[in-house]
Amino acid sequence: MMTAKEYRESLKVRNPLRVFMNGTLVEDPTEHPIVAASINSIALTYELAEDPKYRDTMTAKSALTGKTINRFCHLHQSPEELYRKCGMQRLLGQKCGTCFQRCVGMDSFNSVFLITYEIDKSYGTDYHSRFINYLKIAEERDWVVDGCMTDPKQDRSLRPSKAPDGYVRVVERKSDGVVIRGAKMHQTGAINSHEILVMPTVAMKQDEKEFAICCAVPAYAPGITYIYGRQSCDTRLMEDSSGECQDIGSAYGGQECIIVFDDVYVPSERVFMDGEYDFSGRLVETFAGYHRSSYACKTGVGDVAIGAAALIAEYNGVAGASHVRDKIVEMIHLNETIWSSCVACCYKGSRTPAGNYLIDMLLANVTKQNVTRFPYEIARLLQDIAGGLMVTMPGAKEFDNPETRGYIELYLAGAGQGTARNRFKLLRLIENLTMGRAAVGYLTESMHGAGSPQAQRIMIARLAELDKKKEMARRIARIED
Ligand code: SF4
Ligand code: FE
Repeated sequence: MMTAKEYRESLKVRNPLRVFMNGTLVEDPTEHPIVAASINSIALTYELAEDPKYRDTMTAKSALTGKTINRFCHLHQSPEELYRKCGMQRLLGQKCGTCFQRCVGMDSFNSVFLITYEIDKSYGTDYHSRFINYLKIAEERDWVVDGCMTDPKQDRSLRPSKAPDGYVRVVERKSDGVVIRGAKMHQTGAINSHEILVMPTVAMKQDEKEFAICCAVPAYAPGITYIYGRQSCDTRLMEDSSGECQDIGSAYGGQECIIVFDDVYVPSERVFMDGEYDFSGRLVETFAGYHRSSYACKTGVGDVAIGAAALIAEYNGVAGASHVRDKIVEMIHLNETIWSSCVACCYKGSRTPAGNYLIDMLLANVTKQNVTRFPYEIARLLQDIAGGLMVTMPGAKEFDNPETRGYIELYLAGAGQGTARNRFKLLRLIENLTMGRAAVGYLTESMHGAGSPQAQRIMIARLAELDKKKEMARRIARIED
């Protein structure tokens, strides 16, 4: 396994990435303060794996080699291991309070492992052994892999064959590989990754074989361009962050970008689906199921939000007020309700024919549906308890200015440990979580990541076995058909 330091170095020794941000080519993305904050979050997945206290949570025994590997590279081997995965995600959410970006790789490993097995069974192909060979390298090198699914789609009323630029597709076949073209949207942690694992975005039809492509390319493969996504308040990271009261809220951040594939060559041994259109829908649903259960991360961020609410209530001198205590109980109830569905979908998981374990799909979709709602309510209650000072207090530099420091320290002081400086720091954290960069991960990503709410509702309707429930009602009501 890599250490956090080695991970940071490994990003630097990659061939240069072509990254655009704010209209300019970024010379060294790893040194850019906005990107650096997102690297800090993902580096925690290595740092905690080194820490004996968290080793059990963060590592697993490889099902392929028996070696100890980072759990983010692991094929889950039991319901207990699915649960441990959720525990790891909650822990990381607690440590960085934002998105740590590495789950998409783990979720794509488990789904591509399963689907390649199924394709080979149907078509006699050798995708599964190709993928196992790839995964062994990924485990050994402890790679961050961007599991990359969402296509731009353009006009959503059109099928891929009518809007080909909306979908990643094969544009050329060579004797030893394929060439792909298109783009992927909202790619979490892409620039911080070693590899990109491309998967189709929807179920394809018989005349859409060129869109049914699953393959892996190095993050620096020729033809790849990254266009960095903006986040609210992101340029605050580029301001002077010295001094005890930094104005930037948090040193941790998430990262999303568009990846453009402008004729990228993929050798055959890295192709894991090519034209088996009837399996593209299965791969999409399986990946979405794994990834929806991965949103255990938000319960970790929820823990930070609840802690911040309890602390600011103390600093404001209202911790004893019954309505404040009740609001904190409500926040805990909402957060633990998300967690309950995460745990349930793991323990109701089952063994796949390929040998790894798949979460319960209905409960995974219920988990994600809860995630589209409850963090917003938790954030609303947190802002309620925090008070309006969060958005009206002066900036950090006023603490450095002898003309204003005395006033700030006097008038911003609260109760007990709630000195002006402590309240300032905590309110900046709450601002970041509920309306700053971390809100990208805690709120909007909760809404739309791993599929927007309607996508889960379609799956919930499909998986709920409504006919069986109707039959139960009919039988008790003694209605004869
Ligand atoms: Fe992982 Fe959560 Fe970020 Fe998705 S949003 S990559 S599940 S931390
Ligand atoms: Fe995501």
